[in-house]
Amino acid sequence: MPLKVLIIGAGICGPAMATLLRRTDPGHSVTIVERYPEIRHNGLQIDLRAWGIPIMQRLGLLEKVKQVAVKENGIALINSKGKMSAVLGVNDSGSGAQSFTSEYEVMRGDLVNILYEASMKDSDVSATGKGDGAPNPRDEDAPGIRYRFNISVTGMAQDEKGVDVTFTDGTTRRYDLVVGADGQWSKTRRMMFGEEIGNDMFKRLHVHIAYYTVKREPGDDDLARIYYAGNGRSIFRRTGDRPFTQVVLMVGTTSEEIKREIERQPVERQRATFERLFTGAGWEMDGRFLKGLRESTDFYADSLGQVKAPHAVKGRIALLGDAGHCASAITGMGTTVSLIGAYTLAGELARHNGDVPLALQAYDANVKPYITESQKLMFGVPGILTLKSSWAIALFHFIMWLITSTKFDKLIVKLAGEDKGGLPLPSYPELKLAPVTQS
Ligand SMILES: Cc1cc2nc3c(=O)[nH]c(=O)nc-3n(C[C@H](O)[C@H](O)[C@H](O)COP(=O)(O)OP(=O)(O)OC[C@H]3O[C@@H](n4cnc5c(N)ncnc54)[C@H](O)[C@@H]3O)c2cc1C
Repeated sequence: MPLKVLIIGAGICGPAMATLLRRTDPGHSVTIVERYPEIRHNGLQIDLRAWGIPIMQRLGLLEKVKQVAVKENGIALINSKGKMSAVLGVNDSGSGAQSFTSEYEVMRGDLVNILYEASMKDSDVSATGKGDGAPNPRDEDAPGIRYRFNISVTGMAQDEKGVDVTFTDGTTRRYDLVVGADGQWSKTRRMMFGEEIGNDMFKRLHVHIAYYTVKREPGDDDLARIYYAGNGRSIFRRTGDRPFTQVVLMVGTTSEEIKREIERQPVERQRATFERLFTGAGWEMDGRFLKGLRESTDFYADSLGQVKAPHAVKGRIALLGDAGHCASAITGMGTTVSLIGAYTLAGELARHNGDVPLALQAYDANVKPYITESQKLMFGVPGILTLKSSWAIALFHFIMWLITSTKFDKLIVKLAGEDKGGLPLPSYPELKLAPVTQS
């Protein structure tokens, strides 16, 4: 039965959900609202793992991902002079556990583009309101997918038959289903469960992270580097086969002051905080990385945490991706969580043909095992990524040297089971997608 659906947020899972809905039933009318004036392309390398791979393949998008995938050769642990003490390679054998560099590393902007374009290609209508937030009233109820930029939601009220949504432009519209795909700080989540409860569902890992790019220099090769600068700071450099170099700064701290300076703050304030924290950090930081930090136009920073919501649905409102199940960047599972959520929600909607509340309850229950697996943190993480004292850093260098020089790391990866508990991709023939094939 065709539904009128509102999706809040045009990141990864918003466009993915729209595409899945549209492929299942071209009669669905899907509106995606995004608070920014356009699709946001910032962000660096993200990875597609576990069930995310067959879902992209079933959507016919895996070849596109392969075309833009970053070719990275693993990661090296270095000291302040750039000297390597250990190198962890890539597991491209197709079996066993994935290492730091996954089989499908992709720039976030490229993945967002692939999903956005797929959703537009599937649609009868084009993006409306781009830039000024003004909808084209002719399109609003028609079958197809439409985007409205520069607009958000201020209120929602639901009854048994639908959800009345009020937008920042003062208009109110009614939908059969509302999907909150609005990221880790989700306003939808806070509107569903109340400000305090919705906020408390975000469990901090006490790590703050910044991403930006700098000019590629001759020494920047396809091997990523990690350097521990002490006081909980680590610096990643990643270039792969790109014409630019990515810098990731991570700091582990329970400081309330630093949290206040970073969480949901304007970019310039976040930038100043990272500059203060990383000045004098050594290696390439005090030269080109600090300059890049000040000058980059793609700087993006946030706090790391996981969303632990007992339920990600309420009546006719559902949460997807980071909004309901954020796993955090350090699990490498953010994109995959987004995709498995969209796939399961679309599958249950198709299965329960028109019974939205029942479909949402089934989604909530059936996606849970995948989220639990995805949110599992590797032993020692995040502390191991943000070592504080110089003796801990020296010990870590020694252990990593020992493990890699005896090739014990390769044995661990080989013996480790298939990623994420071997949970199979749920079967939803109702989605009418291409069958899974071996890639
Ligand atoms: C700009 C940006 C850069 C990122 N960079 C990285 C990275 O380098 N590495 C990494 O691991 N993860 C990064 N992430 C997070 C990563 O995209 C997610 O963890 C994951 O892919 C899940 O995607 P999502 O669609 O749930 O959320 P997101 O990708 O966060 O998308 C949420 C979308 O909702 C929009 N939105 C938020 N609030 C509202 C609102 N009230 N109304 C309307 N729209 C709203 C946001 O603008 C955004 O477009 C980044 C996220 C963003 C937004």
